[in-house]
Amino acid sequence: MSRTVYVNGEYLPEEDAKISIFDRSFLMADGVYEVTSVLDGKLIDFEGHRVRLERSLNELDMQKPEAFDDLLDIHRELVRVNDITDGLVYLQVSRGSAGDRDFAYPSEDVKPTLVLFTQNKPGLADSPAAKTGIKVISIEDQRWGRRDIKTVQLLYPSMGKMMAKAAGCDDAWMVEDGHVTEGTSNNAYIVKGNTIITRQLSNDILHGITRAAVLRFAEEAQMQVEERLFTIDEAKQADEAFVTSASTFVMPVVELDGETIGAGTPGSVATRLREIYLEESRKAAV
Ligand code: PMP
Repeated sequence: MSRTVYVNGEYLPEEDAKISIFDRSFLMADGVYEVTSVLDGKLIDFEGHRVRLERSLNELDMQKPEAFDDLLDIHRELVRVNDITDGLVYLQVSRGSAGDRDFAYPSEDVKPTLVLFTQNKPGLADSPAAKTGIKVISIEDQRWGRRDIKTVQLLYPSMGKMMAKAAGCDDAWMVEDGHVTEGTSNNAYIVKGNTIITRQLSNDILHGITRAAVLRFAEEAQMQVEERLFTIDEAKQADEAFVTSASTFVMPVVELDGETIGAGTPGSVATRLREIYLEESRKAAV
């Protein structure tokens, strides 16, 4: 059975959903997105994703889609009609189509394109990788300088994933000026003793919604948090490492550039944070 997707005000079977070849997200990567996870049929951290979407739109002087205030209802309707228990809702807004190709932004009467679709992921929170941990490689960060805006320019992160695969690993941590920025699609952390270390917020990384929640839960659980730069060498010497994202929650990292981190199995801090995150997020889900 085909999915029902949402395009500019209409719920349609996926095969009938169409956008223009002149859409600026297609021609210029002139679009922003959000991914919200669904557990037990409910949305995790919806408000955080809504607020970040609004910020991404503002930073790019992109109009809000007309349906902006209905986004919660649209998410819920897609979850309902597609019968999603565990999965993801993908949302993309682009600057729309002016019916031609031009570097300059089109006039205000060109309306943004709004697309949403679901991805069914049964057992999303019981991923086998969370029990074994993942392996990462380090690569140079070659993305643009406004990584705080969640744009659909995902070519370099895709290349990073392929480099990781070619090396027999799961993901890549990107490095700029000797310091880890983040994973290809997640925020990166190391743990030393009782201290969780992760890069401070700036334009260099995406301000992860999961990151904000996890750091809050860590502090509530009396763990120490240091938001600062760290290197690949420091990470290799760490007791633990992990990544966070809306689709993987808290995911332990057990190997970096072929070197084992800690005992080579998911550490107690990452394991505990994953449990707390899942429990608290399920309680607050909408
Ligand atoms: N950094 C990057 C580069 C990402 O693509 C993502 C996930 N989209 C994240 C961090 C994690 O953000 P969130 O917790 O909001 O999913």
